[in-house]
Amino acid sequence: MNAPHVTRYAVAGNPVAHSRSPRIHALFAEQTRQTIDYGRLLCPLDSFKPTLSAFVAQGAGGCNVTVPFKFEAFEMAARHTPRAVLAQAANTLRFDDAAQGGWLADNTDGVGLVRDITVNAGVPLQGRRVLLLGAGGASAGVLGPLIEQRPAELVLANRTVDKARALADRHQAWAAQHSVPLRACALADVGDHFDVLINGTAASLGGGEVPVGPQALKPGALALDMMYGPAARPFLDWATAQGATARDGLGMLVEQAAESFHLWRGVRPDTAPVLALLRAEVDAPAAHKPEAAK
Ligand code: NDP
Repeated sequence: MNAPHVTRYAVAGNPVAHSRSPRIHALFAEQTRQTIDYGRLLCPLDSFKPTLSAFVAQGAGGCNVTVPFKFEAFEMAARHTPRAVLAQAANTLRFDDAAQGGWLADNTDGVGLVRDITVNAGVPLQGRRVLLLGAGGASAGVLGPLIEQRPAELVLANRTVDKARALADRHQAWAAQHSVPLRACALADVGDHFDVLINGTAASLGGGEVPVGPQALKPGALALDMMYGPAARPFLDWATAQGATARDGLGMLVEQAAESFHLWRGVRPDTAPVLALLRAEVDAPAAHKPEAAK
């Protein structure tokens, strides 16, 4: 009897050693009885494409993409989902062959974040004032899906304000279509009393301070850092001290992974038990080392 065909997947980036994605996808595969092999693909900074091409030649079906290749991954694909087009960045590639139309790029970060906030945390975004910090790959991926939730107002702030303006400009038509006022500004000009604050900067990763003051939070607000693990702790402590509900990026990580898994395998895993297990592992004392997402 032939051995079952095992399709390979990986998280591609630099660095990737810290990544929890192999663990998450192994749990999804076990739960849904899918036979896959999901690993880590460390890509030299100057040879992302050749590394991926070699991976495809080994029978790979797709990959997740993390820092710093999300924009390059988008450029390389032949086809793009509408949400990847809005983001101009991809965190998921499916290696369809030429007969199928070629590589497909998707961005599942936004749907993952929205699902974590609205389903896992139970916080509706519709009609709320939302502040998104950062204008890098992560914020590019989540801005469109946040707009779709029809918040009362969406403010995008970044250290380099021109990047926030460019990202907001690209989303203005989408925002108008959903009747959402969208404003870009500097971190010092965000205003105050937001219902939901999302930190999509890499400040926590670099051990930096929370990039806005406590006035940004309304009492009882939700404050979410896309980072998780010990590196997120200062942000979470700051948010809790302001009377906010603090949340890290672990739920987003699991939810965006589930969406990628669905794109590749056509089945949607149940995220709740996987998130509970990951939470226990990440919060265990042995896990106390800096973590970046994916
Ligand atoms: P990028 O490198 O593309 O962008 C980094 C962003 O952070 C830029 O807007 C940058 O501002 C800003 N920034 C960096 N350092 C500081 C600082 N000290 N103070 C204020 N702003 C700062 O990274 P990504 O967008 O890909 O990732 C951002 C974060 O989100 C990372 O921590 C990443 O791990 C996390 N993430 C989590 C995911 C999850 O599933 N939980 C998914 C994706 C990302 P400037 O433009 O001025 O340089």
